[in-house]
Formats: sequence, C-alpha cells, structure tokens
Amino acid sequence: MAERKVRVRFAPSPTGPLHIGGVRTALYNYLFARQQGGELIFRIEDTDSNRFVPGAEDYIIESFKWLGIQFDEGVSFGGEHGPYRQSERREIYKVYVKQLLDNGKAYIAFDTPAELDAKRAEIPNFQYDAQTRGMMRNSLTLSQEEVDSLIAAGEQYVVRFKIEPGRDVHVDDLIRGDVSINSSILDDKVLYKSADELPTYHLANIVDDHLMEVTHVIRGEEWLPSAPLHVLLYEAFGWADTMPRFAHLPLLLKPVGNGKLSKRDGDKLGFPVFPLEWHDPKSGEVSSGYREKGYLPQAVVNFLALLGWNPGNDQEIMSMEEMIKLFDLSKCSKAGAKFDYVKGIWFNHQYLLQQDEMAWTPAFDKILKENGITSTPEKEAQVVAMMKQKVVEYIDPQSKQVKKRNISFVSDLWPLTKFFFVAPETFDKEDKFIRKNWKEDTAADMKELMEVLNGVEDFSVEGQKAVVDAWAEQTGKKPWNAWRVALVGAGQGPDMYELAAFLGKEETLNRMKTAIEALG
Ligand code: GLU
Repeated sequence: MAERKVRVRFAPSPTGPLHIGGVRTALYNYLFARQQGGELIFRIEDTDSNRFVPGAEDYIIESFKWLGIQFDEGVSFGGEHGPYRQSERREIYKVYVKQLLDNGKAYIAFDTPAELDAKRAEIPNFQYDAQTRGMMRNSLTLSQEEVDSLIAAGEQYVVRFKIEPGRDVHVDDLIRGDVSINSSILDDKVLYKSADELPTYHLANIVDDHLMEVTHVIRGEEWLPSAPLHVLLYEAFGWADTMPRFAHLPLLLKPVGNGKLSKRDGDKLGFPVFPLEWHDPKSGEVSSGYREKGYLPQAVVNFLALLGWNPGNDQEIMSMEEMIKLFDLSKCSKAGAKFDYVKGIWFNHQYLLQQDEMAWTPAFDKILKENGITSTPEKEAQVVAMMKQKVVEYIDPQSKQVKKRNISFVSDLWPLTKFFFVAPETFDKEDKFIRKNWKEDTAADMKELMEVLNGVEDFSVEGQKAVVDAWAEQTGKKPWNAWRVALVGAGQGPDMYELAAFLGKEETLNRMKTAIEALG
C-alpha cells in the first residue's frame, strides 16, 4: 500500500470551553502533523444537540489563534473535505448507516426508553448485545413487514451496531502497544437516531475519519474504551486497510491527590483549566483563562507539551520549531501526567524574562491605569528593567503560607513598583527598616545629601555616582538606607542611583524633603 500523506484531526464537541487537556491533544496533533509534513483538520463534532453550547466553537477557534496552533483545513479554515461541522453532514451519514443495515452489520431497534428501563430492572447488568437482542423489539426479531409498518407509522427507532461476540479485538496503539479486549463485553452501540436524523459520535467519527483520509487518531485516554468498537466499525465498513493508527495520550492528573484533573482543582489552587476566560452563556459564571491571567501563549504551549512527553533529555525550554523537530509519539508516556501548575508559572517566568522590556508595557500600562496612574511605555520599560529580576511574595494556596517566587506575571510588578509612580505618603515609624535606618542625626545627613544632589548636573546614574560617591568617601557618610526610606518609604526597590535617575532631580529632592519633615 502506498504511503499516505499524514492527516490528523482535532475534533472537539462544542459543549463548553475547551479544557486544557483538549489543548494538549490539539498541540500534539499539530506537532505531529508539522513534523510529518502532514495536515491538521479542525472538525466540530456536534451531533449531540442536547449538549450544544453557543459560543463554544468560536471560543475554541480563538483559543488556538492565541496559542499559535494552526489548522490546515476545517471549520472556519475551509478545505476540500467539508463540511467540517458534523451537524451539516446528515445526508452523508445516512448513506453509511444504510450500508451497514444492508450488509447486516447493523439493525433497527424500536425499544422505547420505558421498555429498556423495564429490561434493566428485570435483568441484572442488562446489556443490549448478542445475549439479549433476541428478546428485544428490533429488526432481528420482527418481520420486515412489521418493521416497515412501524417506520411508516412514524415510530422512532435507533440503529444499533451488531457486535459479534467472542472475538478478541486488537487496538494497535502507538503509545500503548497492543490493547485487546473480547467483543463479548461490548454492547450493540447506538449508531443513529431517527428522532433527530443524526448519527451518534461513534458512527460520525469513523465515517468522517475515513472520508477525511485521517491517518492517525491522536486523542485523550478517555477515548481508549471506544477504540475497539471503532476498529470493528472500520472492519464492518470494509475500511480496515486504511484504518488510522491510534495514539491515546495519557490523562492529565490532579496536581495533588489522585485522579483526573478537574476544574475544581484549578479553582481551589488558583490556576485556570481553560486557555481563555469563559463566560458561561447560561449561568453567567466566569471561569478564568490562561490568557487573562497573564500567561504568554508560548509558555502555555511549552508547559503543556511536556505533560506526557519529553524529548528524552532534560531540555525544558523549547520553541514551537524545536518541539516540532523533537516530538515523538512513541516517547509519550502511558502513565498519567500530574498537572504541575507551579511548573506552568515557572515557564511563564522564563518566557516573560526572555521578552524585551517594551513587550511588558501594554499589560503593565493597563494595570497602572487601573490604579489611576498615567505613564509612558518608555518609563514603564525602565521600571521593568530595574525590577524584573525581583521576587514577589504570594500566598501559597496549598499551605496558605506566604512564600516567595520570581516575578512570573506582569501583574506581579505592581505591588513592587508603586513607589516609582507615587511618592510615599506616610512613613511607618514602627517599620523595622525605617527604625533601623532613620536615626537622630539622619535628617542632617539627608539635608547634606540633598545639597550634594542638587549640585549634580548630569542626574544619570553615572553623573550622580561621580559626585555622590566622592562626597560619601570624603565624609565617611553612608546614608543609603535612609535615602531609600525617603524615596521608597520602605526597605525595597532597585539601586538608589537608578531610582533617583528615574525620578529625576526635582522629584528626588521633593521626596527627601517630605521624609525629613515626616521623620525629623
Ligand atoms: N468529539 C470527541 C471529543 O470531544 C472526539 C474524540 C476523538 O478524537 O475521537 O473529544
């Protein structure tokens, strides 16, 4: 058989915001497609109208735009295998449902929900399968005339897949190897419902993967239980020789404790599980997103790429190009990946610090404006340059204790940088740093330093240094911490000459005067 061009797909159901696990699935599909010179399809699996959520599709598209994950064809991208929205492919599926019925691979079943409930009550662990289908109301037990007349009378029905029992079904998984189960444990899955004239997920998924010439199905582990059924469907259609290869990705696990990552974990520990903020159209509830929380898309992508895969060495920071080169499905782990959100913050720190200072300023400016401060990008970039290497305090959501970490978000800057833009208004005489550094004779020293500074013509760092260092050496005075109290109001901030140069001579002297008056 000739080598087929690699074609993969990401096929979400628009039932709400895209979960971060889905983002990882899409990313792996993207990396694989790019690496193999293949194509990535974006398909919307919306055959379950009960679960349809307006806005979800646009949300998903916007998420990938933000993340830099590009599709080659699909909903909103076009292509030759469309339509790519399953709800628009009704007529296509009908042909394939008929094919299965004609070939005796599927049958029509009329059992009402009440009848099914009654059977479940009667038979423990009831399953609609080879054992039980003979007791039910379907085209295997009814005559052709009865079936035709029921349909003509408008009775609703479903089409069920007729699974032959007692066969070992093998799924050849690129990550998990051979996964096999016995077909006897499978039930006769519903493939089509007359009520809405739509197929179920299983049928639509297989027909579309076939028609869209998909070569690899890379998806979350939660779909592994469906895979044997899918293998059987490929066979039933006679498509076994072009069946895609499967790769079921490891689950994303809770950061603490056991089990699958859930939105509740994020809410509890303060990290988003969605790429973008989501406003639920029904409840109005707002769920936080990576973008709005101040993460950089490259950081999110890099972080997610390593949840379930690694390049085989300890390289962590990788550009999209590098990941495309190194990605390897066979190096994906079978075991679930703990969602280490702290690592995600670390990645953001790394990517943020790689950025030019100017790139920080739009977000920084927004925060300043929210706090009533108008500045310029140039000034803001200077503050970033002075402060970006600092650490911030935060309350650890797990231990509820105050901890320190590197600046990891632009918003981390604000509590550390207010004094650049606003002069200290009050001085807390009880503050340890102030008490220690502002003594009886400090005011006199400060006044002297004010005079020295007033005489500095070139108020740049170098200009101040030349004059002030000489003065300090001559007099033996070291009022640096007191000077910090005057300009900052606390024991924090950058190098004093840098700060004074940023503030300018006038503001520097004003702040010193205010401090002398307040602290005496
Ligand atoms: N519609 C399924 C989902 O929402 C797709 C599963 C698959 O990739 O086959 O994830």
